[in-house]
Amino acid sequence: MSAPSITEPPRRLARINDAHLAFDALEKTYETRDGTVRALDGISFDVRKGEFVSIVGPSGCGKSTLLKIILGVVPYTGGEVRLAGKLVKGPQLGAGMVFQTAALPPWRRILDNVLLPIDVLGLPRRNYMQKARDLLAMVGLEAFERKLPHELSGGMQQRVSICRALIHDPGLLLMDEPFGALDALTREVMQAELTRIWTETHKTPIRSTRRCCCPTA
Ligand code: ADP
Ligand code: MG
Repeated sequence: MSAPSITEPPRRLARINDAHLAFDALEKTYETRDGTVRALDGISFDVRKGEFVSIVGPSGCGKSTLLKIILGVVPYTGGEVRLAGKLVKGPQLGAGMVFQTAALPPWRRILDNVLLPIDVLGLPRRNYMQKARDLLAMVGLEAFERKLPHELSGGMQQRVSICRALIHDPGLLLMDEPFGALDALTREVMQAELTRIWTETHKTPIRSTRRCCCPTA
């Protein structure tokens, strides 16, 4: 490795130390049968604890790729990503993800769906039972813990998936077009709900959206 030239722009390492999440010259290319797809190129920005970040852009611009890289399930091909100062190198517990559709296993009751990551991680359920109930209460679903997913509306199911993403108490709440599949009215309600969850939990939400109508949309 050669010493940086004084004519090079300074790297942003000094700022990375203060950032909760820091991207530095992030790149991601996919190798496909038809050639190389450059999904992300030269992404550099910092996110501080408690900030609400919206990633806005059209379909195919790399939003899902970026979120999956933060979650640690997609490897990046250049640059770096740090969460709380540590390089993201693989799946990590510092983030929880909400997808476009709630995708709740239909045979699991609502409480069991919230506890799904705990079962997958092999953690003791009894330590998380109260937390699961508190999260369901936070989104107004405490009376539904014994119901099955098909007994809930789309908006209610998406609330459950937010609880599921928060059950292991991650600092980052990643949401990939979380309300894209909901009708306009439910989407508005969920956006207000999300703002409330943000202020109540002090998490750092990062969401992707194709819409740009308000800071949390
Ligand atoms: P967005 O979420 O903004 O719609 P994506 O991150 O899904 O964008 O995709 C960004 C680009 O990367 C697109 O050109 C897409 O076709 C490509 N891409 C995404 N995932 C893969 C993959 N697993 N293999 C190959 N190309 C992919
Ligand atoms: Mg996407």
